[in-house]
Amino acid sequence: MPALIVGNWKMNGLGDDIAEIAQMAAAGAGNGARSLWIAPPFTLIDRSVIVAAGAVKIGGQDCHVKQSGAHTGCVSAAMLADLGAGFVIVGHSERRRDKAESDADVRAKATAGCAAGLEVILCIGETRDQRGAGQTNDVLTSQLAGSLPDDAEALIIAYEPVWAIGTGLIPTLDDVASAHAHIRANLVARYGPAGYGVRVLYGGSVTPANASELLRVSEVGGVLVGGASLTAQSLLAITAAPP
Ligand code: PEP
Repeated sequence: MPALIVGNWKMNGLGDDIAEIAQMAAAGAGNGARSLWIAPPFTLIDRSVIVAAGAVKIGGQDCHVKQSGAHTGCVSAAMLADLGAGFVIVGHSERRRDKAESDADVRAKATAGCAAGLEVILCIGETRDQRGAGQTNDVLTSQLAGSLPDDAEALIIAYEPVWAIGTGLIPTLDDVASAHAHIRANLVARYGPAGYGVRVLYGGSVTPANASELLRVSEVGGVLVGGASLTAQSLLAITAAPP
């Protein structure tokens, strides 16, 4: 399965930054062996879909659990799909931390994303303290048990150690392999053979300099990239990282 490279722009990007996505699309990103997906802020999704011209898949960074209703300021998965988005990220650690999202919330969002016809990138990962206490696998098991939707068909998991996000720190490659093997075992236990078909991404301080070694790790089906996804130059360097 060719690697999937996903950029998460978080709360970054104004109209002028659409040019970066146009540049990624023009460079043929997504047409080669590796697919490129970008989650810009909600305000840029419709314009991004136009300039991405099908070469780069555009997605949302979050969605509400309901399709519509009295939820001021919220965006539903159906609204994302209506704008031309093809995927949604749920359960990012910044939302678990800043918005107190629980595993149950994440599960409901993942279910809503699937119901709207979106592919769903569900994020899990341990904190620094949890890793220090030797609890990484237990945390991953517990997050998966609480947040996996019933249907695995449109599901992608992103393993993102919280302590690696935006810090410049990454786990050892052995630790990445171990976490991914553990996630795979959980997915197969939950979904049976379909669990082998769920792609698992690594995320946390991925850069052009470390992308190759991370993408070579067993069970790593791609990367979720924050800071290094904001410019075409940097993200294209990750998509072009030697296999
Ligand atoms: C992220 O927020 O999903 C992420 C991986 O960020 P960064 O690449 O900046 O660590």
